[in-house]
Amino acid sequence: MTSPPWALALHGGAGVEPGRSYARAERALAELVLDGERRLRDGDAAVAVVVNLVAAMEDSGLFVAGRGSGRNSLGDVELDASLMDGATGRCGAVAALQDVRSAIRTAAAVMGRSSHVLLVGPGATRFARETGQDAIGDLEAWLTEPDGYDPADASQTHGTVGAVALDQSGHLAAATSTGGVYQALPGRVGDSAVIGAGTWADTTVAVSCTGEGEAFIRACAAHAVAGAIAGGQPPRAAAQAVLALVSDRGGDGGLILVTARGEVTMAFNTAGMKRAAVSNVRAAEVGVDGALQPARRLIEKRTLP
Ligand code: ASP
Repeated sequence: MTSPPWALALHGGAGVEPGRSYARAERALAELVLDGERRLRDGDAAVAVVVNLVAAMEDSGLFVAGRGSGRNSLGDVELDASLMDGATGRCGAVAALQDVRSAIRTAAAVMGRSSHVLLVGPGATRFARETGQDAIGDLEAWLTEPDGYDPADASQTHGTVGAVALDQSGHLAAATSTGGVYQALPGRVGDSAVIGAGTWADTTVAVSCTGEGEAFIRACAAHAVAGAIAGGQPPRAAAQAVLALVSDRGGDGGLILVTARGEVTMAFNTAGMKRAAVSNVRAAEVGVDGALQPARRLIEKRTLP
């Protein structure tokens, strides 16, 4: 009997700047994609896998999410995240969330423990406290500089994180989390909190986007990709067509997707996108700009003295 397909893709943000090093982020993605591979092989549910991997990326401080978040024009940190369970259509999201360590775990609590889809600002923080999410406390002590950060040009630091997975039960899920855009206006919310724009999952495909959030919202990008694939377009063509629409609407970026058949697509119209993927028919790979390389080889290479 052939085993059912499973698949996973991760991103750590598009908008890679040529000349900056993302070696630590790339290594973290290599480790996480192998961790995700183990979980999916063991039969873990797609929702749990994407939440745990995105939470690990938040905690790493290497991406512009969680500990690596960027400050807005007031010097504050506001977090956006969203999660969707393709099997049930349930979803949860938070926007402009403050003083909470994990935006994605809070979004998961909105999905699982409330009757709502999106909570914002102080209401989201209050809900996070009620559902036992850890507070940040001392922001200065908690925040890190994400991999590739250049203080001379902070606005060009991108590192939203996302994960999409197909589990062995045939269920799809997508999760996205961001620590925002440097110097944004207080209260600005991007696509990462918007179901259908930055995140989407149904019974056909799971999608997570990264890039200039305003343009992804104008294109309703994640749902547009899903609609095109459901209509019969091949995944890569659908992804590229939607990224072209995002460009027309004033931005650039990238997206990752997995389909119910276990196909993986990672597409971007920027200089690069930190990314990794694995499936039951494809060895784990990781990359930042051009070609992907085997995740295991990267880990072995970088652990040599
Ligand atoms: N999409 C994110 C936002 O607009 C940023 C990013 O992906 O770099 O908030």
